[in-house]
Amino acid sequence: METLSEVRHQIERCTDCDLHHSRVKAVPGEGPENASIMFIGEGPGFYENQEGKPFVGQAGKFLDELLTNAGVKREEVFITNVVKCRPPGNRDPQPEELEACGKYLDRQIELINPKIIVTLGRFSMAKFFGAVKISQIHGKSKKIGDRLIVAMYHPAAALHQPALKNTLLEDFSKLRIYLQNATESNKENRDYSNPKLTEIENEIGEDKPTQLSLF
Ligand code: URA
Repeated sequence: METLSEVRHQIERCTDCDLHHSRVKAVPGEGPENASIMFIGEGPGFYENQEGKPFVGQAGKFLDELLTNAGVKREEVFITNVVKCRPPGNRDPQPEELEACGKYLDRQIELINPKIIVTLGRFSMAKFFGAVKISQIHGKSKKIGDRLIVAMYHPAAALHQPALKNTLLEDFSKLRIYLQNATESNKENRDYSNPKLTEIENEIGEDKPTQLSLF
């Protein structure tokens, strides 16, 4: 079985789409191999392309703030993107680029096997939730197999629309409960008496993939 660092090396050498022409550094992602939470953003920006690390620019600073507020340590989570090389001028990733890079993300998910995947923004959301509106599903989750997928706005959205800052803070504040919930659901004798857990569970229900397409 391939390791995460082998996937990283493949990404760094990848020439499967046009984005490699303008990359300074590929940004495979970073975090521990056994992370319980994986964040998936859109693609590297200017600073990420220079440094080879995800979310180190302005949006990254806000992501750090969101994590701190949620009581989650950045070193404990895995952070990556749907495309690993910077789209020139920060344009949207194109379908053929998403397609070419998808295999790397899929392998990372398989190897890390996180309990929770948090999608940041519409491109990673679309991978798991299909054609839905982020304004309608942000902060909500659905289960795919044993894994909980939670849709969040992209942190950069709050830099353009300050009203979204509180929305993001509030959505991120649910993360610890989602994590507790995901961990608890793996135990045989689950304690349903915890009001916080049941409260969130009621809110999201056992989301079925089809249920979300109604939004
Ligand atoms: N925005 C993203 O989606 N990913 C990054 O790594 C940085 C900014």
